[in-house]
Amino acid sequence: MFVDIAKIHLKAGNGGDGAVSFRREKYVAAGGPDGGDGGKGGNIVFKADSNLSTLADFRYKRKYTAESGQNGGTSRCTGKSAPDLVISVPVGTLVKDAETGRIIADISTDEPVIIAKGGNGGWGNQHFGTATRQIPRFSKSGNPGEELDVTLELKLLADVGLIGFPNVGKSTLVSVVSEAKPKIANYHFTTLTPVLGVVRIDEGSSFVMADIPGLIEGAGEGIGLGHEFLRHVERCRLLLHVLDISGSEGRDPIDDFEKINHELSVFSDELTLAPQIIVGNKCDLIDEDEIARIKQYFENKGYKFFPVMAAIAEGTDELINYVAGELAKLPPIKIYEAEEKPEVEVKKDRRSFKIRKDNGIYFVEDCDWLMEVMNNVDPDDYESLQYFERVIRDCGIITALEKAGIEEGDTVSIMDIEFDFVD
Ligand code: GDP
Ligand code: MG
Repeated sequence: MFVDIAKIHLKAGNGGDGAVSFRREKYVAAGGPDGGDGGKGGNIVFKADSNLSTLADFRYKRKYTAESGQNGGTSRCTGKSAPDLVISVPVGTLVKDAETGRIIADISTDEPVIIAKGGNGGWGNQHFGTATRQIPRFSKSGNPGEELDVTLELKLLADVGLIGFPNVGKSTLVSVVSEAKPKIANYHFTTLTPVLGVVRIDEGSSFVMADIPGLIEGAGEGIGLGHEFLRHVERCRLLLHVLDISGSEGRDPIDDFEKINHELSVFSDELTLAPQIIVGNKCDLIDEDEIARIKQYFENKGYKFFPVMAAIAEGTDELINYVAGELAKLPPIKIYEAEEKPEVEVKKDRRSFKIRKDNGIYFVEDCDWLMEVMNNVDPDDYESLQYFERVIRDCGIITALEKAGIEEGDTVSIMDIEFDFVD
């Protein structure tokens, strides 16, 4: 069965905890703090694999968890970081946030993409020695790894997409112009899964053509077969609209054309913008005048029209050469941009905190909103510390400390992190 959509749960690895430990030396009663940092949790990484063509694997396994980092050790020993968990998906898989629909990544190139970040390890107490507090009993626990539900959506990468009613000859066309051999038969919906065919033009150039299952009326609203397959023509640079111009099944080809275009517009506005070339198939079943009349109709509407007999590959060379020429003028296959994650903004009036002085130390408390900032501060990194300083200045913590009477060199403690006050 062809599976091109799936929802899975991802949990990246947690960071390991930092250690509290003290150096033991001969003749020294209490050595300095030497607790090592926790290791980084494993990321969850997505990678395109050209051997895969469906998302079927994800129907059975829906939960993916990366390993956590090891805890820090004594003697400044950093815990081991966990390996990344690499998930292989077919080329052209869109990864979306299941909750918001935001596009996180389009896995269409060889570049692996981190979808869920492992948590950073916590710092061991080696970092927390200050002039006033020589024996830091503080360490930080590791940050949790990112956890989220994602929807995977396969959108095939093809230059040219075939659209049209069932049984008009789409699969036949692909089979005569490419090496692909889709199922062909004189009944509706013989094509149940999209088939990609490589069409070779001379001098080693080629393009990819996608045969997707036939559309039927109401496909755009999800009625019957077709709707779910429309996503596979969304990236196409050009559409070939195949018509049975003989009306061999009692329908009118011009009517077919309008109906299919209506379905496209219901599905997505973007699809209606893709250039279309009209392929009038089954010319063997009608006379020249009728072909000329239909050709005229489409040319009046500004479309290029090719009369063909797909079954015997008559007229298909002209069609393919024209398509190749058009493709050369069109932009490359669409790759979706990742959409920005909206910033969680902490409102000014929610930036509350309290200051309490105890035993000469100034404690900043009741400031849960600062947690995220604190978790990402690296005390060994100058820029990171500057950022931290900016945040606590902006929200008024510095001013409040000064009002409380703090002086240069006094100790400040915010959420287990201690530092000396330097103005
Ligand atoms: P699809 O459903 O659009 O993929 O259509 P198929 O390619 O499966 O073809 C449907 C039927 O039309 C098959 O029986 C084909 O043999 C037939 N067919 C395809 N091309 C031609 C043609 O040029 N002339 C005639 N008379 N029949 C054709
Ligand atoms: Mg078919």
